[in-house]
Amino acid sequence: MIPKSHPRYTSLRTRNLIVKGVKKGIASMDGLIAHGRGEAFDYLLGEKTNEFAEESIGAAAALMLLAKKPVISVNGNTAALAPKELARLSNLVQAPLEVNVFHPSKKRELKIKSHLKKYGAKMVLLPDKNYKIRFLESNRKYASPEGILKADVVFVPLEDGDRAEALIKSGKKVITVDLNPLSRTAQKATITIVDNIVRAMPLLISSIREYRKYDKNKLKEILKNYDNKKFLEESISSLR
Ligand code: ATP
Repeated sequence: MIPKSHPRYTSLRTRNLIVKGVKKGIASMDGLIAHGRGEAFDYLLGEKTNEFAEESIGAAAALMLLAKKPVISVNGNTAALAPKELARLSNLVQAPLEVNVFHPSKKRELKIKSHLKKYGAKMVLLPDKNYKIRFLESNRKYASPEGILKADVVFVPLEDGDRAEALIKSGKKVITVDLNPLSRTAQKATITIVDNIVRAMPLLISSIREYRKYDKNKLKEILKNYDNKKFLEESISSLR
């Protein structure tokens, strides 16, 4: 039990979610290392949602609302850290959640699926070995024919660079959440939210709730005025 008065209470609580996720068989051991890398960047970013992230969250909300077929890609870490928010986002924009893990394991995929359902997700897809994303060699190339393969916009938080790049090469728009603005994913994505997934998800959901009152032209205007490179540069400067 971490006392609430601990100066790093939120960070330690978040770390615990990953540890629990590994114990439940949702996250992998490698997920612990990815989380550690994230923690280091979060420390440098001040463990808060910075203005550049707020701008990216706004653009992401507009793009999710304009998408014809949005899909949310979920790996072990995101499922462990934000299951309720993933379910909410999915139900809010009618975007299926699609499970995709680095280390091949049907058992883990099924565990992630039932974990997400427990938190209220209605649409959870699993990859199908008969369908692949082009430009990718790892296990992560498999996809659902009803999900990512048909998507025009893919929300892929905490993604590895190869897959983000393959999705972009396949003509999809990619939104990511990544604490490391220097990662290949952060650099390649259409919209990069440089923030912790546990802080960014509730903000993205409330932006979508607000923006869905806007007409399409206003949403298009928000996207037109958004410059991902600029906010990436600001996030990199803030590390110093
Ligand atoms: P790339 O292949 O894109 O260069 P990588 O090899 O570091 O990056 P992974 O380890 O697969 O990629 O992905 C983990 C990424 O997610 C890292 O960039 C890490 O900083 C980030 N990350 C980890 N935990 C969180 C979190 N809680 N919120 C947001 N981002 C996170």
